[in-house]
Amino acid sequence: EGAKVAICGRPNVGKSSLFNALLGRQRAIVSERPGATRDVVDEVLILGGVACRLADTAGLGPAADELDRLGQERATSFLADCDLALVLLDGSRPLTSADHAVLALCQDRPRLLVVNKADLPPAWQPSALGLGPTLAISATSGLGLNELARAVAEAL
Ligand code: GDP
Ligand code: MG
Repeated sequence: EGAKVAICGRPNVGKSSLFNALLGRQRAIVSERPGATRDVVDEVLILGGVACRLADTAGLGPAADELDRLGQERATSFLADCDLALVLLDGSRPLTSADHAVLALCQDRPRLLVVNKADLPPAWQPSALGLGPTLAISATSGLGLNELARAVAEAL
């Protein structure tokens, strides 16, 4: 069935957009409103020639309600046993405490740091993170997605 790859990050960074872009169709719900993804949505697909089970997860951060809390619980438990985490950040907005919490959560796990919305003017410099290499992508324009697929395949 393939290795488990989880897209994780705070709400609104573009997790569902990335999931759909890699899948090539509109599977997950994309919304300007945070908290649209409650369940872990996953699909088997080939990335960079390697079969994997890619999952879109709920945004991590302060929970608005019980449903939100449950969604986040599912996300963190999927994250805990995935083979690779794609830690998604929004390059067009300053980093938040929720971003830093996700980074901390994934610190000791196999992960790729992915900076989305590279089609917009950057709000921060990835090198300033001090966490090693990052991949710049745009889930909506397709920028960097082939490179990302290759990086996933190499990391598995
Ligand atoms: P999620 O909450 O992390 O799943 O984020 P979504 O995929 O629902 O996207 C949140 C918002 O960001 C939507 O309005 C998307 O259209 C927008 N978005 C996602 N990726 C990009 C991108 O690469 N560039 C730009 N400009 N907007 C994006
Ligand atoms: Mg989503």
